[in-house]
Amino acid sequence: MEGYKTVVDSNSLGAALRGAVPGKLRLRLSFEGMEIPAVVVAGARGGPLVWVQAGLHGDEYDGMAACLRLADDLSCLEMGTVALVPILNQAAFYAGRNSNPADFVNMNRVFKDEGDDHCGFSKRFAMWYADMVGSCADTFLDLHGGGKYLDVCRFAMVSDDRSQELAQSVRLDFIYRAPPDSGMLIGELARRGLRAILHESGGGVGMNESDVSAHVDFVRAVLERLLMLPELPGGVSEIGTAIRIRSAVDMRFADESGLLLWRLPCRSVVHRGDSIMRGVSAADFSRWEMRCPIQNGYVLSIHSASLVEPGTYAAMIGIES
Ligand SMILES: [Zn+2]
Repeated sequence: MEGYKTVVDSNSLGAALRGAVPGKLRLRLSFEGMEIPAVVVAGARGGPLVWVQAGLHGDEYDGMAACLRLADDLSCLEMGTVALVPILNQAAFYAGRNSNPADFVNMNRVFKDEGDDHCGFSKRFAMWYADMVGSCADTFLDLHGGGKYLDVCRFAMVSDDRSQELAQSVRLDFIYRAPPDSGMLIGELARRGLRAILHESGGGVGMNESDVSAHVDFVRAVLERLLMLPELPGGVSEIGTAIRIRSAVDMRFADESGLLLWRLPCRSVVHRGDSIMRGVSAADFSRWEMRCPIQNGYVLSIHSASLVEPGTYAAMIGIES
């Protein structure tokens, strides 16, 4: 990685950022053998530092493409600094998996007290990373998607009032206030005083232009709100009318397995008993169906891959506040 400045902790990150001149700076974040390239775009004037990342989960590709596009396209910030980490969990990415093959732990669930039993690589890495982001950033945007098996509609997750206020100022379909004990990175950084928003869009094994654009538009809209980019007339940042989600029901496949034959699209409105998806067992060709278990809700994410395995995630149904 020629031309990259190596960063190993919050001190070396601070030194690199202090030395940044207007324009682009390339960083290589380095932790226990995992090397993560990053691009920092510094504006002509001082201002907030917005940290944007994708690939905390290694198989969520739309956000990665969005982050790389922003690294190419963002050049003249009105003020402030944007740090972009397009593929955070490099080992998970190369393994084609959601989690790091060192321990297969979901790195976005480790920020809670679980005693001493959970000090594997993912937790050590996540704590190190949170220290770095928390040491320098004002605002944190975490781009996610459905991974290989799910499709996810465009929604934001927040864990505190200040972050929710910022999310409400941009265009989104849904805003979900996550439970305080979810163990997510946005919760940890919000506790450290940052505004932190997780943005979901897309999924599947290939990229979809509209899902990549949704991520790009979200980040640009936040930068406009923070006055770091000029606001485009009629652009992406009109005040949002997002539906607020107060809780969500996770549905998993139990006896259902085999081939998925039909499913609802994301964003669908569902009522108790409505069919959400149908499939067929590969063993005996018996048909199965999953139905909405709650009174009213919205399909926030849904299994989209053809292969259905017992115990895996089927759908997330959001309940309006
Ligand atoms: Zn994710």
